[in-house]
Amino acid sequence: MGDRGNGLTRREVLKGAGAAVASMGVVSLAASRASAQGEWDHTTDILVVGSGVGACSAAVTAHDNGDAVLLIEKAEFLGGTSAKSAGVLWIPNNFTLKARGIEDGRADCLAYMARFSYPERFDPQAPAFGLEAHELALLEAFYDNASPAVDRLRASGALSVAEWRMFALDRPATDYLDNVPENKVPAGRPLGPVNAEGAMGLGAELMAQLTRAVQQRGVATLTGHRAARLVTDGERGVIGLEAETGGATVTIRARKAVIFATGGYVHDPGLTARHQRGRLYGSCAMPMAEGDFIRIAGAAGARMGKLGSAWRTQVLLEECLNSPMLAAGAFYIPGDSMLQVNKYGLRVVNEHRNYNDRTEVHSAYDASRAEYPNQVLFMIYDQRSAEGFAGAYPIPAKPGDAAHVLSGSTLEALTARVSERLEEIAASTGGLSLDPAFGANLKATIQRFNGFAIAGRDEDFQRGAAAYDNEWHPVFSPMAADSGWPANRYPALCMHPLRDEGPYYCTLLVAGALDTCGGPAIDASARVLDAGGKPIRGLYGAGNCIASPSGEAYYGAGHTLGMSLTFGYIAANAAHGEKLAET
Ligand SMILES: Cc1cc2nc3c(=O)[nH]c(=O)nc-3n(C[C@H](O)[C@H](O)[C@H](O)COP(=O)(O)OP(=O)(O)OC[C@H]3O[C@@H](n4cnc5c(N)ncnc54)[C@H](O)[C@@H]3O)c2cc1C
Repeated sequence: MGDRGNGLTRREVLKGAGAAVASMGVVSLAASRASAQGEWDHTTDILVVGSGVGACSAAVTAHDNGDAVLLIEKAEFLGGTSAKSAGVLWIPNNFTLKARGIEDGRADCLAYMARFSYPERFDPQAPAFGLEAHELALLEAFYDNASPAVDRLRASGALSVAEWRMFALDRPATDYLDNVPENKVPAGRPLGPVNAEGAMGLGAELMAQLTRAVQQRGVATLTGHRAARLVTDGERGVIGLEAETGGATVTIRARKAVIFATGGYVHDPGLTARHQRGRLYGSCAMPMAEGDFIRIAGAAGARMGKLGSAWRTQVLLEECLNSPMLAAGAFYIPGDSMLQVNKYGLRVVNEHRNYNDRTEVHSAYDASRAEYPNQVLFMIYDQRSAEGFAGAYPIPAKPGDAAHVLSGSTLEALTARVSERLEEIAASTGGLSLDPAFGANLKATIQRFNGFAIAGRDEDFQRGAAAYDNEWHPVFSPMAADSGWPANRYPALCMHPLRDEGPYYCTLLVAGALDTCGGPAIDASARVLDAGGKPIRGLYGAGNCIASPSGEAYYGAGHTLGMSLTFGYIAANAAHGEKLAET
């Protein structure tokens, strides 16, 4: 795995903390450096580890509860992947919905979340919707705390957010599963950060607000400090931590608790290879997402939730070949005269489904052929989409003018070019090649798709049937007004027949992630659980470093930031109730 991504090397972001840590895990008080020194370097009530949205939410909440707080961050700067994000927060029953008189009731919202997270067990008539009690408890904790967390952060001046509106449509954002009867409020839960001038900002704005709030409260923050080992003391559980900075070890005593919000493990090649199904090629998370908490909490005996979970997105294979650390994912696939096929030339997914769910299809296993037939999907489009949607990533501003775009004057020529490229990169795909039937199948697939586009009804994958498909389309992929191509006159905005003449274009798509979201399991108070399901005293977690409370479901725009902010808030409030250790 290469070292460079997002314009930063791992060494650059981890200068102070040292790129590698000798050992990660747990040390007993007796064996700790604090004992050897006879004193701790720092003492606080609540120690927060990380500086993304979960950590800052926890730090501000803990401070406002009256606890002494110290925050450590292993990078040289604050904000984490949260600062790189679009800054959208999915908050059910939020203040903007209430202001519009829209009721986002508890039972209905829980049903939506339970349906999306556990489709294999969801039963609206069964107790707990068919979920395990602890699974429902996490969803309840999220619903009960998300809106209050935002209200409290707003009231204290830490956060300024407003309803997030879909730019071109100027309407509230549609959820990622709007088309199930359980979703009674299919639009309007996402919020976005608003800057001092009243304009909607991105993750940089969100994290500028939250890190400013941390610093304005006088919360001590130590950058370049990498949490390495928990310090435990028998029955008292976790009582502090050893962090590494510039080759030295620093000891921090936490009289109430340690809260981790340290991101996922997507940039640790070993963890990713071990725990991710199929192959995960790259991620747009910041390079610090290395899974430190899995090693640390694992050594403390934490029970692991579903370790293989991730917030998924398709990514460009050609970009991943340069570096798995990516600037962005192919969150939305632009174009209307566009489809995706696998190595057999067959469509396998609704190309306009949300990024998290759509990407799942890459890891479908063919038991008869013993292969992942969708490991690489081929995004194929014509001149209409190349020019009409020019500049909507990953369609380049000028047709074909990017290393990740293959082209051919006919479908046969395109097929030959794709085959050639697959041969060149065989070492990165396990020797994947096009099936001999690809060319013939592709033609038939296009013909079938064109029929669906004309009828406005995709009988195979229901593209365009959900509001999401058509409403997010102009947000991520507005048709260029000056392209010379007519607006789509067919019934579904996101489907248009492909032309029967070339040129044609192809981009190779593979599975990637915003970050992983598998790790230690928590309870509804954000307490990390041990192998027996009991809380590990003094240890809390939020965000991508723990097993996601929603499983792998991504309820709507802002899902991951909303979850992390909320569980950071829950953790701080629960930790506030911990008995203060005097010695
Ligand atoms: C381009 C892009 C756009 C996105 N847009 C959205 C969006 O609009 N809405 C949404 O919900 N999600 C979005 N996401 C996903 C979202 O950014 C992440 O899921 C979220 O930021 C994770 O937050 P977190 O609280 O888990 O911590 P992170 O923001 O991941 O921060 C973790 C921090 O912990 C630090 N850390 C790690 N290990 C240690 C250690 N041992 N000691 C000390 N510090 C440590 C890291 O350096 C880092 O600063 C996007 C992601 C990307 C890449």
